[in-house]
This record gives sequence, C-alpha cells and structure tokens, in this order.
Amino acid sequence: MDILIKNGTVVNVDSSFKADVAVLSDKIVSVGRMAEGAAKASKVIDASGCLVLPGGIDPHVHMQIPTPAGPSSDDFLSGSRAALMGGTTTLFDFVTPAPGELLPAALTARQAEARAALTNIFLHVSPAIWRKTMPNEMAECVEKFHTRSFKCYLAYLDTIGLLPEALEKVMREAARLNATVLVHCEEGKEVARLREKYAESNLPVATAHYLSRPPQLEAQAVDTAIQLARKTGCKLYIVHVSAAESLALIAKAQAAGQKVVAETCPQYLLLDEQKYHQPFSEAAPYIISPPLRKAEHQQALWKALADGTIQTIGSDHCPFLLQQKMAGKDDLRKIPNGAGGVEHRLLLLYTYGVLTGKITINRFVELTSTNAARIFGLFPNKGILAPGADADIVVWNPEKASIISRHTHHQHCDSNIYEGMQTKGAADYVVLGGRVVVEANKEKTTPSPL
Ligand code: MN
Ligand code: MN
Repeated sequence: MDILIKNGTVVNVDSSFKADVAVLSDKIVSVGRMAEGAAKASKVIDASGCLVLPGGIDPHVHMQIPTPAGPSSDDFLSGSRAALMGGTTTLFDFVTPAPGELLPAALTARQAEARAALTNIFLHVSPAIWRKTMPNEMAECVEKFHTRSFKCYLAYLDTIGLLPEALEKVMREAARLNATVLVHCEEGKEVARLREKYAESNLPVATAHYLSRPPQLEAQAVDTAIQLARKTGCKLYIVHVSAAESLALIAKAQAAGQKVVAETCPQYLLLDEQKYHQPFSEAAPYIISPPLRKAEHQQALWKALADGTIQTIGSDHCPFLLQQKMAGKDDLRKIPNGAGGVEHRLLLLYTYGVLTGKITINRFVELTSTNAARIFGLFPNKGILAPGADADIVVWNPEKASIISRHTHHQHCDSNIYEGMQTKGAADYVVLGGRVVVEANKEKTTPSPL
C-alpha cells in the first residue's frame, strides 16, 4: 500500500475507535488493526495521540469573487492552500454569471479559474435573474456538468438578488432536477431601504452597516424561503444562519418533515456586534453580511448545532485587504462585504465546540465534513473514513496550542477576524486523494509564494 496511518483514533459520525488506516492510490483500502508486519507501506505516519478525521468539506467559500473594490483577496490557489493547512480538503465555491451571461458559459469559465485549487473543488451555480431560458440553462448545468446545487440571494436586489417570485421559479426547476437550492436570506427590499437610510445618516459606517441588516430581516427571508421551498417541493439549504429568530422557523419546518438544512459559520458562533463600535479601520474586517449579531444569538446557534437544527459549518470565506475595505470608509454601500476563515473553520469549532463540551467529536466530524458530503451527493466517497472512500484524511493533533494571527495564517489577507484567539488542535498531516499534502503541520506542496 502507499500510505499507512498507524495508531490513531479514527473518528466517524457514529463511532471513534483505535485503528490504522491504509491507503492505496487515491482510496482508503482498510480501516482497522493491522497485523504486525502485514503492512508494507511506502509512507508510514505515526498518529499516536492523534485523531484521524475525514477531510474537512467547506460548503461555502468565495475565492477571487469580483467586486467593485476588486476581487476577494484569496485566489483559488492561495485560498485552497490555507484550507489544506487547516484540514479542509474539499471546497464549494460559486458561479455568479455576469449580466446576460448564460449559466453553462459562466460555469465553464469559473471551472477554468477553479482548476488552480489544490483541494477538491465543486461549484454551486447562481441563477441571478429569472428569464425564460433559465429552465434550459439549469437543466444543462445538471445534465452536462453534474451540478447538484443552485444558489440564490434574497438580498442584493440591485445586482444578483432575486425577488420571491423569481426564487419560486428557480425552486420549481430545481425540484424538477432534484437539485438543492441554497439561499442567502435577508429581506432584500427592506435591507435596500435601510442601507439608503443609514448611508444618509451621520452614524459611523460600521455601525450603520450593522443597523441596516437586523436579525428580523434575516428571519423574514428565511420564512419566505421555507414557504417557497414547501410550495415547490424543493430541497432548501439556508446559508450562514446568524439569528435566533431564524432558527425557530427552521426547526419548525424540519419538525413538519420539510427538507430544510441550515448552515452557520464560526464568526456567528464566536464574534459579536461589539466589533463594529470602533474606528473604521478596526471595524472594517468584520463588515460581513449578515452582520455579526448581539452575543445572545451565539447561545441559540450553539444549541442548534448540538440538537441538529443546523447541519453544516461553512466559513463563507471571502477576505478583502484593508485597502479594499477602505473603499467604504465614508459610504457603507461601497465597502466589500466579507471576511476570511477557510483556514480556521475546523480549529475554531474544535477548540470552542468540542473542547468546551458543546458538541462531541463525532458531531464535529458531521458538521465539518459528513453532512456537507451527504447534502451535496459526495457521500460515502467523502465524509467518512471507510474502505472504498476517497483518501482525504486529516491527522489532527489535539495537543498543539496556537494563537490565530494574520502574521502566521496562510490566507492572503492583512487582517484576521480571529486575531489573538487561542486555539488547540492542528492538522499535523493532511492526505488529499492519496497524496500527503501537509506534513508535520507544514505544507508539502510548493505553490507560488503569496
Ligand atoms: Mn451571503
Ligand atoms: Mn457567501
């Protein structure tokens, strides 16, 4: 065999057990105790004292997304390197067509960019407008490109957002194609109105941003998306849930048997709106949509992670340099929204979720890998350590302590919203498709310097 990972504790959704993991070519061939001398591997990794996890799957990242302030600062290469360093081996990015561009053409162009990624990469496709050719465009994505998911926005009505009537049409087609629809839920018209109102106010920009996107508008859009998904029979995935009000609606729909899954992000679990009430240059990295909420929402989100209301953790990785953020220093409408986090998703959830006892290690695997694999059709090739599965494997050292910093992260960004946070755990080894790509917490590949 090619790789033998010895003496670790294998963690899957339903069990944790001492086992050796053997890899041949790009697949796992056995998970269990190896007889002494039975295994002759060309590469042996000693995982004593470590957890052996299925590679992380981040269902929500935006590499080099175009904005008026320039592209998000991680391209597919730098962003995927950062992902690997943090134990994430599969990314889902997005296809956002330019006005008038057909979906299959936009998908082809984005695939060409995404080829630079060092990780596995998949794309959600955004029907950013409704037009009569859209059913055919969506069908072509599914049939020719194996797209399984479409992404719509109820906010951003001036650019890529859809009104509920249009979302309903997309959902109807998606249901026909058995695809999932991801929705960014913030009530678009009201957010637009509040943004204009606060842009005219004398409030500091970061505070104005926060006030222009209140939690009730998220919940209102969640309600709309749930109702339309029920009406059309569409599988619904609600991205970056940040508000307690939204969780109540989601739990109710799930209890009624509707196929609604929800994602949240580490930033909503760990950071709060206090970050906005400081000088612009300090607050700017935290300007994201939805905004950080009051601290009490965090408790509801952690509870929803533990009880199953929320099924996935995405990073919504979308970093911008401070210079790019400065475009909005006098006008909240001009600031590129987003922050980085692809590298620290596992680390933060491990430190602040598993080690605090809020979630089990098995639930951690489910939230960071298995559920995304299940939802987007990759399971059981991914999201599990078992014979026959893809050899995407993380050897997680639970003892390594570190402090997150922009000076040491691999993300291409001059700020880090988790700056100074103490963490425990590290991806000591990462195997991607049967190749060791991170070794002793150092990258083995030699991509171009940042
Ligand atoms: Mn969004
Ligand atoms: Mn996003």
